[in-house]
Amino acid sequence: MKRVSQRLGRIPPSATLGISARARELRAEGIDVISFGAGEPDFPTPEHVVAAAARACHEPENHKYTASAGLRPLREAIAEDVGKYSGVEVDWSEVMVTNGAKQAVFEGFAALIDPGDEVLLPSPHWVTYPAGIDLAGGVTVSVPTTIENEFKVTVEDLERARTDRTRMLVFVSPSNPTGGVYTAEEARAIGEWALANDVWVLADEIYQRLTYFTDVAPSIAAVTPRFENWVLVNGVAKTYSMTGWRVGWLVGPADIIEAANAHHSHVTGNVNNVAQQAALAALRGPQETVEEMRQAFDNRRKLMLSLVRDLPGVRCVEPQGAFYVFPDVTGAMEGRWETTDALATAILEEAGVALVSGESFGTPGYLRLSYATGENEIERGLERIRQHLAG
Ligand code: PMP
Repeated sequence: MKRVSQRLGRIPPSATLGISARARELRAEGIDVISFGAGEPDFPTPEHVVAAAARACHEPENHKYTASAGLRPLREAIAEDVGKYSGVEVDWSEVMVTNGAKQAVFEGFAALIDPGDEVLLPSPHWVTYPAGIDLAGGVTVSVPTTIENEFKVTVEDLERARTDRTRMLVFVSPSNPTGGVYTAEEARAIGEWALANDVWVLADEIYQRLTYFTDVAPSIAAVTPRFENWVLVNGVAKTYSMTGWRVGWLVGPADIIEAANAHHSHVTGNVNNVAQQAALAALRGPQETVEEMRQAFDNRRKLMLSLVRDLPGVRCVEPQGAFYVFPDVTGAMEGRWETTDALATAILEEAGVALVSGESFGTPGYLRLSYATGENEIERGLERIRQHLAG
């Protein structure tokens, strides 16, 4: 009898969540596993946010459904933040609250893609985009980037990949997995190309405030004059160490948000009310913890980069944002491991360090290491990897 549908049968499970699950299993067996796998900050959620959520739990009105697109005060706070950090003026009605940025990505694709539409996806790319494009009926067109260009896509790369079916570009800055950040000039050139070619841009700005050389990452929406065909994805997960609370948002033109919200109203109804109150406290409350965490990540970034660059046969671009390094390990693999999938599995099972293979991001030959973990762990983990590569 027919079982899993063709549509879902094609979707692989999230590789990054898979690594985290395997690391947890090994730990449960008593094995000391160091995790460079997770895409989440290791800090607790700021205390004032937790306190606001605890208070919200005791308010009976928060035990009820909210409007599908989210609590109005939260949508207003998000609209203000979009003005402050992305540099574009939006109305609260152009904001929709989602179950994490992940759902915002899915809603953006669902609202904009028709069957057969091509979506340009610069690679390496985060694992979730192709799944969302596929489920929306679109076709992922991978646009390879190079380490020499710090994994940033250029107008020439995009123009080579463009066809008359190109509908959308996924633009991620800072990038997961590379930590690359586009300058305002680079983002503007790409925005102007999209404007000239009627291409929508889904800009994933989840790491926009986690940058190490500028205050925020320039938003393609703000730096491209007259460009309106964009949707922005963001959330509280990375900025406020709130991955488990599952609050994100999609921002864009009213008709797109209305369509996405109609879909969302059937799929999930609304985001957990208490979590929305927590997100509101995060956005409206003191911002010192954001800067404290950013500084801690910057110190870890420098430490991890220097240790990774010391590994024989490994080269690595300096990440400008997010909390990942993405080294080229082909020189260290020669004659010993065929794929970085095999190398990542060996490092986890034999050396007790969880990290993610380049294949998971569409780029064999690389590894992604997250430095969202303590400096001591970074030193211990890199020493284990060094010994493992020395064989
Ligand atoms: N976008 C990018 C680029 C990410 O790295 C992640 C998390 N790994 C997300 C979106 C999803 O964030 P959330 O936890 O809010 O769903």
